Amino acid sequence: MRNIYDLTVEELEEYFLSIGEKKFKAIQVYSWLYDKRVDSFDQMTDMKKTVIEKLKEDFSISKLKPVKIEKDELVNKYLFELSDGLYVESVLMLHDYGTSICISSQVGCNMGCKFCESGRLKKQRDLTSAEMLLQILAVEEDIKTRISHVVIMGIGEPFDNYERVTNFIKIINHPKGLSIGSRHITVSTSGIVPKILEFADFPYQVNLAISLHAPNDQLREQIMPIAKKYKLKELMDAIKTYYNKTNRRITFEYIMLDNVNDSLENARELCELLKGLNCYVNLIPYNETENIQYKRSKNNRILEFYDIIKKNNIVVTIRREFGSNISAACGQLRSKKENLWKHFI
Ligand code: SF4
Repeated sequence: MRNIYDLTVEELEEYFLSIGEKKFKAIQVYSWLYDKRVDSFDQMTDMKKTVIEKLKEDFSISKLKPVKIEKDELVNKYLFELSDGLYVESVLMLHDYGTSICISSQVGCNMGCKFCESGRLKKQRDLTSAEMLLQILAVEEDIKTRISHVVIMGIGEPFDNYERVTNFIKIINHPKGLSIGSRHITVSTSGIVPKILEFADFPYQVNLAISLHAPNDQLREQIMPIAKKYKLKELMDAIKTYYNKTNRRITFEYIMLDNVNDSLENARELCELLKGLNCYVNLIPYNETENIQYKRSKNNRILEFYDIIKKNNIVVTIRREFGSNISAACGQLRSKKENLWKHFI
């Protein structure tokens, strides 16, 4: 049975029309779900009994509850059990500009990026829009604060679950939904070219981040299998098309791997690749994990790399490192209970 949290306002309006009711009821339901945060249809006291019974017949209203929460100074990590017994994680980061949640979009991931702990488990299934959204509601309930920023950068490749991810964005962005501004929503992809092109026509001003991680095909193919399918030339062409259509600055994520992609020559190649693009480069010091052989680049090298990019007039930052104490950092999430937080379970 479909969860009510899966529906966009438009879908809910269509539903009400289909059962002979007025479509404004969709907004009433949204207000119960996202404003008043009810747990059952029976609590929707401005609905007729017959409508409540029909809603009960057609939808579930179950929420996600974290089965484990781990808290570090500025990071909380949440483990959720889904209705079919699978597990996903979300990470909350407390920034000075607000609260940001990194949500998962799939259970496991088929992209197989070599440096990524999160992707070691093959995709079990896509998450529904409701399951993505309910990660946010559960975290808000835990911290008693509204989340201001959402990044779809946890476990999974969002563009491998395109319809549900874009539906999820519509719901969280809706003023009667979670009302999270589109500028505060970021989708991160490993570079699925046809979906980047499709996303260029998605009429919401959300941010796009590309997991680039290498400035040439040979290196990228070595660490990201997706690069064999979509060469850099094709990827960069798609990004330019995306930019020309949306006029939105693109973020490039670049994980700094010691002696793999962090040579000064790589930095110069990166500048050449990004020349003339309105973009922003985010250098991410690698979070080492016991199962993967890659090491974090040395601090000096990260700074030298940064300097080269900056001198080429490309906006660049080094991502602040946090969350690694609780394995909540980028690429460290897992999606199998037996591998999650072994010390707790
Ligand atoms: S980095 Fe992202 S796309 Fe790559 S394997 Fe990990 S979760 Fe999947």
